[in-house]
Formats: sequence, structure tokens, C-alpha cells
Amino acid sequence: MLSRWIQDAGHGGYDPGAVHLGQEEKVWNLEAATYVNERLNEMGISSTLTRHQDTSLSNSERTNIVKQYDKCISHHFNAGGGRGAEFIHSIYADGKFESLLKEEFTKAGYPYRRTFTRTYPNRNHLDYYFMHRETGQCRVTIVEYDFLDGPNRKQLNNEQYRLGMYECVVQAILRDEGVQEKKEEKDDDLIREQMHRVVSGSFRNRELAENRKEQLAKNHFDSFIMPIEINEHQFYRVVVGSFIKKENADKRVAQLKRAGFDAFIALN
Ligand SMILES: [Zn+2]
Repeated sequence: MLSRWIQDAGHGGYDPGAVHLGQEEKVWNLEAATYVNERLNEMGISSTLTRHQDTSLSNSERTNIVKQYDKCISHHFNAGGGRGAEFIHSIYADGKFESLLKEEFTKAGYPYRRTFTRTYPNRNHLDYYFMHRETGQCRVTIVEYDFLDGPNRKQLNNEQYRLGMYECVVQAILRDEGVQEKKEEKDDDLIREQMHRVVSGSFRNRELAENRKEQLAKNHFDSFIMPIEINEHQFYRVVVGSFIKKENADKRVAQLKRAGFDAFIALN
């Protein structure tokens, strides 16, 4: 039997959550919750939302809704200076689902920071976060995708980059539920995971990557910087488009070369 899921878009309405340079956390939280919700429904997994719009929910209103479901992702973006995804589970959960999340994020090249639990001060049997403490039997995972004020701030502005993170959550849920995508869908999915990324420069130094991105922009090529770890070394790839079909990626490479940029296709 499949679990009944609920996607909680953190904050909302009068509560913007973290705010950095005009970007309000609540907006991206809703984007994430909506994406995951739609994908699960598409896959035949029951899922709903705590809020569908920019509405305010008190803690108790939120937890009273969540309590009625089996499993919940509470979608958040972090602040306070740091880099990468954090997954927080209840002190009573085994953390297996969170290790699936970690695998999916890492596999897709997104930075992972840590998985943790936290107890209430001087109350070792109580969870610190109300989303764990006051949601009854529902298994709640708080996902903090990345830091609004961290070094990945610019990548986060890229919608495709954000959607890629939300898709990692979907893939972890499919594994958790033992649901496989149907043949055609699976092909789509393989394609999603194996997009032909056109990379123009892979740098150890982030500033060099930023310079390349600027030069590309002057030549009307849109790009974003994707951090990637290769053999435990941090690299910054400048990605100039991701394509399902290799021939389209080949075309982009050719355009870049004509404009004087080096470029190659990466499958990760
Ligand atoms: Zn938050």
C-alpha cells in the first residue's frame, strides 16, 4: 500500500521565512511543494499540499492538516550562511528516507551539507521542531534545499537548477514507495537524469567560472554555474544549456566554438 503524502510549503502569507536581497523563502517553498505534489500525482502517488497559495498558516493549523497524512516533506530554503542541502528528521525516525535524499542530491551534482535531528532543550524525548513534535504519526522530513545567502545564491536564481533539486526529492520518494516509472516515463526520467549538459569551462576557482559566465553573457549565451565534486576536488562548471537530444547539445557546442569558447558535453 502506498503512503498518503502531503507537501508542506514552509511559511507563507505574513510570514516570508528567510529573506535575502528581496528573495522571499516562502515563494520558492511553494514552488518546490507544488512541483513535488504534481509529480507524485502524475506517478499515481496520493499527495496534497498544506497551502496552495501565499496564505498564512499558524503552527497548529499546519500540523492539524499534516497529522492526517502518512508522510510529509516540509519544503524550506535556509539562511545564515552555508552551502548545500540539509535534511532534518524526527528523533523517532530511522533516517533511511533521508539517506535516499542524500543519494539523489549527490548523484545529481547538488551540494549536500548534513542530515540531523534535534531535541528540545532539557527534554530529550521531544523533538525540537514543531513539524516533528506536533504532527503525530506522520513521518515528516524538513528539506532545506540550500542557503538564500550562501555561495550558491546565483545558481538558485536559475529555475532549472531549482527544479532539478525538487526532482531529487521526487526520485527519493519513488524509491521509498517502491514505485517505478513506466517505460516511456522511465525513458523521460533517464533523460532527465542524463541530460546532455553543455559545459564551457570547468574551473577550480569560482571567480574564473563567474568571469566565463560574464563573457558568455556578452555573447548572448545564457549560462549558470554548477558546483561539482570530482575525485574529492571542488569544480565549478559553467553550463550553457542542458539538452535531451545529443544532436541539440552538439549544435550548442558548435555555436560556442564558432564564438571562440571551448565547450564539451557532460552527462553528469
Ligand atoms: Zn524556512
